[in-house]
Amino acid sequence: MSLAPARVFAALNAVQPPDQASPVMGKAVVLGGSIAGLLAARVLSDYAESVVIIDRDDLEVTGERPGVPQGTQLHALLPGGFLQFERLFPGFRERALAQGAIEAPPPARRNYLDGRLKVIVPDDADSLAGSRPLLEGLIREQVLRLPNVKTVTARATGLVFDGAVTTGVRYDVGGVPGVESADLVVDAMGRSSRLSDWLEQAGWDRPATRRMTVHLNYATALFRRPEATPASTVVLALHTPRMSLDVAGAAFFAVEDGRWMAMMAGYGDNRPGRTAEDFVRRLREQFPPEFGAVAGNEMLGDVQTYHHSDSRRRDFHALKRFPAGLVSVGDAVASFNPVYGQGMTAAALHAACLSMYLRSGPDLNAPARRYLALQKVVVDAAWSTSTSADLALPHVDGPYPRGYKFSSWASRQIITATVTDVATARRFNEVVSMREHPLSLATPRVILGALRANRRAR
Ligand SMILES: Cc1cc2nc3c(=O)[nH]c(=O)nc-3n(C[C@H](O)[C@H](O)[C@H](O)COP(=O)(O)OP(=O)(O)OC[C@H]3O[C@@H](n4cnc5c(N)ncnc54)[C@H](O)[C@@H]3O)c2cc1C
Repeated sequence: MSLAPARVFAALNAVQPPDQASPVMGKAVVLGGSIAGLLAARVLSDYAESVVIIDRDDLEVTGERPGVPQGTQLHALLPGGFLQFERLFPGFRERALAQGAIEAPPPARRNYLDGRLKVIVPDDADSLAGSRPLLEGLIREQVLRLPNVKTVTARATGLVFDGAVTTGVRYDVGGVPGVESADLVVDAMGRSSRLSDWLEQAGWDRPATRRMTVHLNYATALFRRPEATPASTVVLALHTPRMSLDVAGAAFFAVEDGRWMAMMAGYGDNRPGRTAEDFVRRLREQFPPEFGAVAGNEMLGDVQTYHHSDSRRRDFHALKRFPAGLVSVGDAVASFNPVYGQGMTAAALHAACLSMYLRSGPDLNAPARRYLALQKVVVDAAWSTSTSADLALPHVDGPYPRGYKFSSWASRQIITATVTDVATARRFNEVVSMREHPLSLATPRVILGALRANRRAR
């Protein structure tokens, strides 16, 4: 089933929850109660009589938790994801601000490319800055308040099938096994999901897994923020490979509780910021002065590091045989180089795919092919944004897609033009924040506009 990508993106970005619940199933069980699982549960609460979220962590406990080790790292909420959160949870913005999130409208966002400050796109969409536990906590609070949603603290261990239909989930609580029956099971267990193993063990095929090795080293540190309302709340600086610097990028965001959260990333053997001294020194030496100013504040706690080996996707859509009553969302399907900040927004778009699928009144005794086809459009888009940029890294050696030489030349022109040209920057931002499909950049008009802007800027 092949769908027109631009049209799918437009439809997903317009999806609204139904005015009133219209159940098409008895019970849905969501495995994993992180961002993707919670967003799926929110959608399912409109279409299932009851929704059970199973997570190995106790979801009543707030703050950082072991099941989400990336939770200490800086998380950007792209405007496309913010839009989706506001649709699913009307009033999200006000609640977030009340709990300490910081507004990040276009004039408060500064972006540097190779040390050059990019133009501001005045009519760009808004976003928010906050720590990952704050954002996840806000979503969780809204979802767990829904009367037909409950959580179970347990480790999911497998699926139960009746012929070609998924009918439940096996789990384990402190060595005691249990089974939860389900009309629909949603895998939201993140990039280490074992769904492929479970399918194989039950006689189904494993999906092909595609990987692009990136070996990204992340480091995040918190600093005291003396200004209650700084003029710039989200500041990013990226270095292209031609800069030959050991730090590929850095960012700092104003977050709750009067703090700056700063991040630094390097590839391969470059592991910036393993110690507090190294973190502060590199922010000062390799980035514009405002990074040094943040680093001049008191560091709160230690530097937290994280290694991300690869971008990976599991092509469930390509399986000839796939059980009914089963779908996957979020990182369990595809997880990308986190530098591009796509994960939470992609998870929100998967939830929108689920909403569109369930709204069509599907036969739940047949594989969710329409859902898989919609989701493929989202995964392809995020994958192309992330991997096409990563192919330019010196230590990444493919796989190169067809037409790579031309597409990499065109994207270099467009990215260069985003520094000086508002029209190109606007289009580019719409794509990287997942409000528009990447194909909208691959037009003669956009490429010629970028070439002209670059000639003017020379
Ligand atoms: C370093 C880093 C930085 C990132 N930065 C950004 C960013 O700036 N912006 C952005 O949007 N995204 C970012 N991401 C990606 C983002 O963290 C994820 O895309 C997002 O959390 C959605 O993930 P998920 O819900 O699919 O999975 P996860 O967040 O990984 O959650 C998986 C859940 O499943 C549970 N689970 C796993 N196995 C089982 C089991 N057997 N039984 C029960 N429960 C189970 C876990 O406890 C956990 O709650 C970043 C990721 C990393 C690694």
